[in-house]
Amino acid sequence: MARLIDGKAIAADLLDRVAVDVAAFRTRHGIVPTLAVVLVGDDPASHVYVARKLAATRRTGMTSIERRLPADIDQAALLAQIDALNADAAVHGILVQLPLPAGLDPAAILDRVAPDKDVDGFHPVNVGRLSIGGSGLVPCTPLGCIHLLETVIDDFRGLKAVVIGKSNIVGKPVSLLLLEKECTVTVTHINTRNLPAIVCTADIVIVAAGRPGLVRGGWVRPGAVVIDVGINRVPGIDGRSRIVGDAVTHELDHAAAVTPVPGGVGPMTVAYLLANTMRAARMAHDGNGT
Ligand code: NAD
Repeated sequence: MARLIDGKAIAADLLDRVAVDVAAFRTRHGIVPTLAVVLVGDDPASHVYVARKLAATRRTGMTSIERRLPADIDQAALLAQIDALNADAAVHGILVQLPLPAGLDPAAILDRVAPDKDVDGFHPVNVGRLSIGGSGLVPCTPLGCIHLLETVIDDFRGLKAVVIGKSNIVGKPVSLLLLEKECTVTVTHINTRNLPAIVCTADIVIVAAGRPGLVRGGWVRPGAVVIDVGINRVPGIDGRSRIVGDAVTHELDHAAAVTPVPGGVGPMTVAYLLANTMRAARMAHDGNGT
């Protein structure tokens, strides 16, 4: 039976550590790290995600500012909201919840967030810093994946990692982080030929495709570690929908360790949002984010 990596417990530990840092920062500076969350429109899933993020913010003792904006807001008005948050010295981190309603240009909006407040790590400056191994703000889900891997792997050097999915928010940044750790990294995608044979070579499999049941037992070599980023809503046996990942977990008994869905990468993403906000506050007030 593969070991299940308990993302929920590991994320709770991380949030506890962030809370300690928040308290120390408050003592040092007399101010509280603050996260601004911009939520545009009525997407129900986005409302659930934002509620989770705000609950985690409170848990760490941080302050949050919410900007709930109508779905028909125009691009210029949304950019003006972001400019105001950029200019507000009391705000350390800014999160624009995606997806944005049709008619808004997400790239232009994310580019407007000041790089040093960009706690999602999506701004091109932070993407560039990550690609040269610099010290920018790094996207939360990839940080969470690496943290989970570190609970089961001591030395990454020379390990073969296969990443399934090449998105800007998961696949590409997690590939760069694995490369920094001196893994040999193969990034795959929908047009990759003979994917099972490539995945079979991996010591580490990170799957972020959004395809339930994609990674089968026969794709994974004995002793590999599988990080399942996928979040897919599928019909359950009782008629109610349930959430599953991209890997068929019950076929992975021969793996060394796997992450469950839910309760694996998801909680880590939220925890790293707060860790990044703490980091942004330190960069602003202590001159470094470490
Ligand atoms: P995306 O749609 O932007 O990218 C999906 C990638 O997977 C693409 O590069 C595509 O080429 C590749 N892909 C799709 N089908 C494939 C196939 N059959 N074989 C090989 N590659 C395939 O998605 P994303 O935003 O990166 O998210 C991926 C999944 O991760 C989704 O299920 C999403 O909900 C989930 N997600 C989870 C978290 C979390 O916190 N757990 C965070 C972000 C995304």
